[in-house]
Amino acid sequence: MIELNRVRKVFPGRRDAAEVVALDGVDLTVPAGDFAGVVGPSGSGKSTLIRLVNLLERPTSGSVAVAGRVLTDLPADQVRQARSSIGMVFQHFELMDSRTAAENVEHPLELTGVGRAERRRRSAELLDLVGLAERAGARPRQLSGGQKQRVAIARALAARPQVLLCDEATSALDQASTTGVLELLRRVRDELGLTVLLITHEMAVVKAVCDSAVLLEAGRVVDGGRLDDVLTRDDSPLAAALLPAPI
Ligand code: ATP
Ligand code: MG
Repeated sequence: MIELNRVRKVFPGRRDAAEVVALDGVDLTVPAGDFAGVVGPSGSGKSTLIRLVNLLERPTSGSVAVAGRVLTDLPADQVRQARSSIGMVFQHFELMDSRTAAENVEHPLELTGVGRAERRRRSAELLDLVGLAERAGARPRQLSGGQKQRVAIARALAARPQVLLCDEATSALDQASTTGVLELLRRVRDELGLTVLLITHEMAVVKAVCDSAVLLEAGRVVDGGRLDDVLTRDDSPLAAALLPAPI
């Protein structure tokens, strides 16, 4: 479960730039096993929110808890270990080009000191899970966008996280690859019992995979709920945002 409590994030101004209130009193609860989406216009705070959950940023005030652990109370030396219980997938995959698919998947295990044989075993199992067992020896440049994202998902799962964060994970992919990656995310959620938090500007993605969603505007949650409820409400800003745009 992911829980944000009255989270505020202010980026201080520098010389010619004014300070930015990126998140302004955000409350968010994602129950364990849920597939939750965060949508909102550009600059509304979506990436900042996900970076707080992954401890890449600290809130100015408020608290962030993942799987019962209050991350915002952790001393610096425990942050790294806590981060290993959180997997993350990015828009541009962030794979290492000098390494094979299998070596990319093994990398987080290498960082935490897992032995070579165990790393091999685990990366083979994960590449099989994402349907890329045959491409274990391929370099990222030899893979399609959808395949690269599958490798990145396998890597995100290597340390057996309880939570998977996806920031625009399908935004660089074509329609067919997007569908494949979303099906994979649903399947790993189901099979591994993960909690997934997905951030996107693609409303169709939210409708295709999310159980629940929130709408961010200027750093505030302005609407949210279970998607089947939201979509039947006619006064819902989130439902309006999820409707196909007029041509
Ligand atoms: P997009 O859809 O374009 O990715 P977003 O919803 O992810 O947008 P954020 O990246 O979270 O938006 O940014 C929210 C606000 O915080 C923006 O005004 C942005 O300029 C500001 N911001 C984000 N990171 C920083 C930073 N490191 N320093 C200063 N301001 C920042
Ligand atoms: Mg963003």
